[in-house]
Amino acid sequence: MLILFDIDATLVTTSGVGRHAMAEAGRRLYGPSFTPDGVEFAGRLDPLILTDLLRRNGLQPTPDRLAAMRREYRVALVEGLRTPGIARALPGVHDLVDALACEAGVTLGLLTGNFEETGRLKLGACGLDADRFPIRVWGDESPHEPPSRDHLPAVAIERYADAAAGPVRADRVTIVGDTVHDVACARANGCRSLAVATGSFPEQTLRAAGADEVFTDLSDPPAVVRWLLG
Ligand SMILES: [Mg+2]
Repeated sequence: MLILFDIDATLVTTSGVGRHAMAEAGRRLYGPSFTPDGVEFAGRLDPLILTDLLRRNGLQPTPDRLAAMRREYRVALVEGLRTPGIARALPGVHDLVDALACEAGVTLGLLTGNFEETGRLKLGACGLDADRFPIRVWGDESPHEPPSRDHLPAVAIERYADAAAGPVRADRVTIVGDTVHDVACARANGCRSLAVATGSFPEQTLRAAGADEVFTDLSDPPAVVRWLLG
């Protein structure tokens, strides 16, 4: 069984520092009027967010500009995460990861819109090591154009098989996330979805999107483990 976790508002909160750092990257590169207004962030792939940010500000999203934004975003994120207490694991997350790591037959993974370097920074700021999740798929690893989160579960399944764990059926893969995009990418691939209402999407919206189960949060690890293994 493979259990794939989203990062932002599922495992951790950075109190908006991630969004702020992306907008700050734009201001540093293109001036103080650079605005994130009107750009959707939650549950989306970082390369698509950067593309939207550039377009929103009247800039063609060229490869050079996207690379510059990515570099500057990392710098601004490192600075933002220095504020003590601003990034923290959400309730129950440390115990849940510890509990699942002990389960025979369970492999943990990450399936996230974050770039690897900034995803690792966010987790690390919360005392979570990305390497505790052996199967990792990052936000720039969609193998198709245009990129989509819906493409990422297949990458995770392929990596699971390559890691000598053997093939895994899609219905033995669970995606844990806080947005309708996490639920949609599970459904598009025949995976199970566990939604958590710790982000900007309320429980009923996540249910209506077709989540197999919705938890208010992950604060009761034994109950989450029971559902995941059930
Ligand atoms: Mg999220």
